Amino acid sequence: MSDDRTRFETLAVHGGEPRPAAGGSVVHPIYQGTVFETAPGSSHGDVRYIRMGTNPSQRHLHDRLASLEGAETAVATASGMAALTTALHSVMAAGDHLIAAGTFYGGPARFLDEHAARLGWTVDTADPSDPATWSEALRPNTKIILTESITNPLIRVGDLAGIARFARRHGLVSVVDNTLATPVVFRPHEVGFDLVCHSATKALNGHSDIAAGAVTGSHPLIARVESALSHYGGSLDPHAGFLLSRGLKTLALRVRAQCANARALAEFLDGHERIAHVSYPGLPGHPDHGRAAALFDGFGSMLSFRPAGGVTAAEALVKSLRLPYAASSLGGVESLVTLPAAGGHSSPAEAEGIEEDLVRFSAGIEAAEDLVADFGRALEP
Ligand SMILES: *Cc1c(COP(=O)(O)O)cnc(C)c1O
Repeated sequence: MSDDRTRFETLAVHGGEPRPAAGGSVVHPIYQGTVFETAPGSSHGDVRYIRMGTNPSQRHLHDRLASLEGAETAVATASGMAALTTALHSVMAAGDHLIAAGTFYGGPARFLDEHAARLGWTVDTADPSDPATWSEALRPNTKIILTESITNPLIRVGDLAGIARFARRHGLVSVVDNTLATPVVFRPHEVGFDLVCHSATKALNGHSDIAAGAVTGSHPLIARVESALSHYGGSLDPHAGFLLSRGLKTLALRVRAQCANARALAEFLDGHERIAHVSYPGLPGHPDHGRAAALFDGFGSMLSFRPAGGVTAAEALVKSLRLPYAASSLGGVESLVTLPAAGGHSSPAEAEGIEEDLVRFSAGIEAAEDLVADFGRALEP
């Protein structure tokens, strides 16, 4: 089911599902067992054990995830942070160097700030939109270039195809966090990224009720991630994996509805007299609009904006909205709104670029008219 001609809606339902179905059930069962019989004479690699991610429910989920990202294979992890840190550990050794997008999401940015030196890794940051900064950061011991498909919370789209080509040319492993875009909007392997990481806690599951992550890529690279994962112990429990696999069935429907809502709201806010600035790649005035239009199918479910009237106006707006929850996280069926600078979300370095009146919005699947009406009312003087 993973052939290129299959449309994403179909893949989300059927991709990676075994035919004939296990036991004839159209829903793959949950194997909760931790350990499975081994045939006499089998090797260590044949052992099936839950921490190694080789329980049948885990393998089924891996096939589903690989199919959606168009990858050879995949591995599920206990969180998005486990996906990212395990991917980095699978490539980096003491003495190695890594180039990270300067805009990176707080969690991994703080991981690198606090742990890279202890691990013997050196890190330089670069601007995902400016190839000159990648070349400047490159060293003989560089192993990885790490970026995001849509940055959080500034909602920018870097030169993604260029970064993947740069990595290929210099023998680096390119790693991209595709959480904000999802494979509905962007499939990084198609432009040459080696490893794609997700916080499946967000849109892949979509219902704000589990922690999970995923890494997709080639067989040799994912074998290294699996090995690191089994040693660090971050595999995903099959019951959470079952919920994730169920969430994936509606991924295309949910994300397309979220993109439509984000766009409707961005267009409404863009023309509004009480809004100073809106960042949404679907707006023709966004600096990365052309790039997003060329690379993406849709423009994503996330936008950020700054009200006229500064942080007081931003806080008042968040307080008077009735539909979106005031909460961090993103990608679920319910709209969320947050002030990233206030939420302790950003790393100190990152905070420099994040104004305190910046409001981030994660579109849910409510009716666009209701969201726009709620913002319209909340913005009334
Ligand atoms: C939430 C998030 C993560 C971390 O994922 P967890 O599931 O919370 O561990 C990583 N990257 C991005 C872009 C995220 O939004």
